[in-house]
Amino acid sequence: MRIALLALIVCGTTFAQARYDLVIHGGRVLDPETSFDAVRDVGIRGTQIAAISERPLVGARVIDASGLVVAPGFIDLHQHDQTAAGYRLKAMDGVTTALELEIGPPDVRKFLDQRRNAALINYGTTASHPWARAAIFGRPAVGDGEIVPPSGPATNDPATPEQVQRMQQRLRDELNAGGLGVGMGIQYTPGATRQEIIEMFRVAAERGVPVFVHSRGDRVESVGEVIAAAAVTGAPLHIAHINSSCLREAPECLRMVAGARGRGLDVTTEAYPYIAGTTQINSALFNPGWREKFGMDYSDLMIPNTSERLTKERFEQLHASPQPQPIIMFNNTQAMVDQVIANPLTMIASDGVPGHPRNTGTFGRIFAQYVRERRSLALMDAVRKMSYMPAIRLERSTPEARKKGRVQVGADADLVILDPETFRDQSTFEKPAVPSTGVRYLLVNGTLVIDGGAIVPGVAPGGALIGPSAQ
Ligand SMILES: [Zn+2]
Repeated sequence: MRIALLALIVCGTTFAQARYDLVIHGGRVLDPETSFDAVRDVGIRGTQIAAISERPLVGARVIDASGLVVAPGFIDLHQHDQTAAGYRLKAMDGVTTALELEIGPPDVRKFLDQRRNAALINYGTTASHPWARAAIFGRPAVGDGEIVPPSGPATNDPATPEQVQRMQQRLRDELNAGGLGVGMGIQYTPGATRQEIIEMFRVAAERGVPVFVHSRGDRVESVGEVIAAAAVTGAPLHIAHINSSCLREAPECLRMVAGARGRGLDVTTEAYPYIAGTTQINSALFNPGWREKFGMDYSDLMIPNTSERLTKERFEQLHASPQPQPIIMFNNTQAMVDQVIANPLTMIASDGVPGHPRNTGTFGRIFAQYVRERRSLALMDAVRKMSYMPAIRLERSTPEARKKGRVQVGADADLVILDPETFRDQSTFEKPAVPSTGVRYLLVNGTLVIDGGAIVPGVAPGGALIGPSAQ
């Protein structure tokens, strides 16, 4: 009798506790950390995953996920388009966290303030070396359309030792404002000497955060420069888009990353699944000699949203303009991109900017092209490259990262629920702003931001990821 009563109380209590805010019922749950892959119910309470159960769970709302994959929301370490419209497109591509780490903005505090309580997905950024350099050379940012400073003295001239020290102080201040690391675009600041680069790595090493770097653009040579800077300073290193930074030398660049890791250095890398890159045509990347250096010609350049290929005259007109006109550069081969994407060392990151289909379609394209069509990536490996590996990369920047990139009890409820047969990119080089299809539901910190395939209006659950020096 007493036992029965006790059992009743326990059952009653259990039942009362076991009502979740949201239940995702009967989906194929993938956890890339443990390689768990089975049909389960997932119970969400507040902002976290509270239960993963073989038996059906009870929730205030139950989503039927039969036939769908339930995976950690994708974490994009490299997203320049940090607008509300950009966040909607990222969400449609399965992304729950989109970070501007490669270059960083002109002002970290302003960047974070502008997005507080206003972002659809999670966001964060780095202390920017190119913008620190521009500020100290007296050429601050003039508008939000600028991702990198245009070519000029601030990008092309060497700095004095005193200017280098001021850049270091600027980076420290930006890390104190919440930067997740140091962002560098060495190819966009060709005036920066190897010594200047090492001094910037030293600031990251002081704080124990990574340097996220677009390397100098001489492929193997440039990867050697940043691995050496990591080795001599102790700063962790993340090399952006090894596909476009190394082009035909990408296999050797990846061997160098593997070799550095094998000798205990914290070096990681990423890639995006497209044969063309993009940048601003008035940037220092197009300083004289670019055709010889990249093996490209004017006709390899295209204006986004059109099919217009450039001529010498048109190039010179656009290059000299103060307008940060984006340009598509056809500079890689499909075989090289395929090899880089399949390499176990590469995370998937979009380098998203308006005008290039990678801004909208990177993650869907991995499913369409590499999981389904070429079958060069297993589903779990694709999910790992898009969620768990970036979360691990972020652990030195914020302890919050340990709760992301996983489908586990206690993890943040950042989840993508997608149809593995239809999730795909829709954007092309001619029409680069078409949202991906196949993401049926997306949760950010427990809140639905995509419901039944459509963006939920009026929600802003995205939180900031803040670096360890924030004051
Ligand atoms: Zn870049």
